[in-house]
Amino acid sequence: MHVRGDGNTLDDGTPIPDSVVADLIPESFISALIHDSAGNPIDATNRRRHPTPRQRRLVKERDRVCVDCGRGELLEYDHVPAHQHTGRTLTTEVKLRCAPCHQQRHAPGVL
Ligand SMILES: [Zn+2]
Repeated sequence: MHVRGDGNTLDDGTPIPDSVVADLIPESFISALIHDSAGNPIDATNRRRHPTPRQRRLVKERDRVCVDCGRGELLEYDHVPAHQHTGRTLTTEVKLRCAPCHQQRHAPGVL
């Protein structure tokens, strides 16, 4: 879905009302595409490694404890698959893991 100053559309051009966009935003991965003055897209992809506060809340609400051992402290956000492979941070690709389990997962020889 594309949200622009002059209106919102699906990939195929189907118009989408602002109210529908507003309903979807809390569950959406938002990627900003900035255009130069000639209308050409500028590469401004969100490549941040760390989840945003909203993403952290969502993952914590979903997983609540370490997905491996159930510990409720020393929790960290673990990219699955690894961020170095995806270059992105999606809540569907982040798991809550305690520091020891997280460390073990990334130990040499463990994928
Ligand atoms: Zn754990």
